[in-house]
Amino acid sequence: MKNNGRGVPVNQDQRILFNVVAPLPETRDQTAHALFVILHETTHRLTDNLVENSEADRENAAFYADQLYFKTHYPQYYSDYLKFFLNLAGNRQFNISSLEDQFLKSYPLSPSLKTSVAELVKKL
Ligand SMILES: [Zn+2]
Repeated sequence: MKNNGRGVPVNQDQRILFNVVAPLPETRDQTAHALFVILHETTHRLTDNLVENSEADRENAAFYADQLYFKTHYPQYYSDYLKFFLNLAGNRQFNISSLEDQFLKSYPLSPSLKTSVAELVKKL
């Protein structure tokens, strides 16, 4: 698997199961990357309900939720998270606020959706 993962809804009888397919990590760094992908796909289950019709908004709402979640709860992984989804590989050091600016520009969301997502993340 070369790209990022996918959330795959699976029905079994009347039950809806949910699976995430993510690349199998081969290095220590890739382990964190696989977790970022799994979290992203799982977050869709929470954030998709906040978005009406736009596929781009669904993507960006999931990214925004995870960004807030890492920033608040796991700051030690925050820059790795931002760099991974900005496709900035390697050990080059970046200023965290410039990474955050780039991330928010890459995955833009309306102010009202940002508020809805932030309220959801706050309750986690
Ligand atoms: Zn997605």
